[in-house]
Amino acid sequence: THFGFETVREDEKAGRVQGVFSSVASKYDIMNDVMSGGVHRIWKDAMMDWLAPRPGQRLLDVAGGTGDISFRFLKRAGRGHSTVLDITESMLVEGRKRAEAAQMSDSLDWVVGDAMALPFEANTFDVYTISFGIRNVTRPQGALNEAYRVLKPGGRLMVLEFSQLPNPMMQAAYDAYSFNVIPRMGQMIAGDRDSYQYLVESIRKFPDQETFLGMVREAGFGNAKYRNLTMGVAALHSGWKL
Ligand code: SAM
Repeated sequence: THFGFETVREDEKAGRVQGVFSSVASKYDIMNDVMSGGVHRIWKDAMMDWLAPRPGQRLLDVAGGTGDISFRFLKRAGRGHSTVLDITESMLVEGRKRAEAAQMSDSLDWVVGDAMALPFEANTFDVYTISFGIRNVTRPQGALNEAYRVLKPGGRLMVLEFSQLPNPMMQAAYDAYSFNVIPRMGQMIAGDRDSYQYLVESIRKFPDQETFLGMVREAGFGNAKYRNLTMGVAALHSGWKL
């Protein structure tokens, strides 16, 4: 069975997304490495290269999960602060354990909340990141509008997300691989086929690079650009609150 998201209502999508991440939280980090062959690390490092964190910056890491982006950001910035926000508490619990083990707890806050209704005042953060999160949000445009609101003037948005391959033959090959292999691997390794079926379906439905760039601009961001990663399997979108 799979979820068939075309027919479900908005609040059902939100509930199912939480169900997926609650069930994978304790295995999330290892599954990321296994499923991507470690490539997600290269993409996250590429995100940091473009972002170029600076000392003292305040980051809001939305859908931050177990904290991958925040840990990288803080290491590169040298000193700074990150607020990790996620709708699934069990993901944050895993992240907090990692922070304690790395003795980085002082630089981090963990907040349960929704990307579409951030519990922060306007003009609060220097940087807003969302990595493999906005695809799961019921209304991505609402999340981008919220990003714009909570960033300080001069603040930076950076989105890392799965995307579409501009080359149709490559996209067809990638679809064949992901729809057949990923759910089976999820079943074998995590005993959870449905969560990984959701993963591949949500990737295929997410807007392509140019469409998403339009949404970033629509939220008010200036100097908006994107870069493809691994031929467009993923993409980075950057924008500024000017
Ligand atoms: N950012 C981390 C990373 O790159 O490894 C975690 C990404 S994980 C694939 C997606 C996360 O999005 C999950 O932890 C999930 O709970 C969170 N999420 C889904 N919908 C959300 C929403 N509306 N608001 C905040 N977080 C959300």
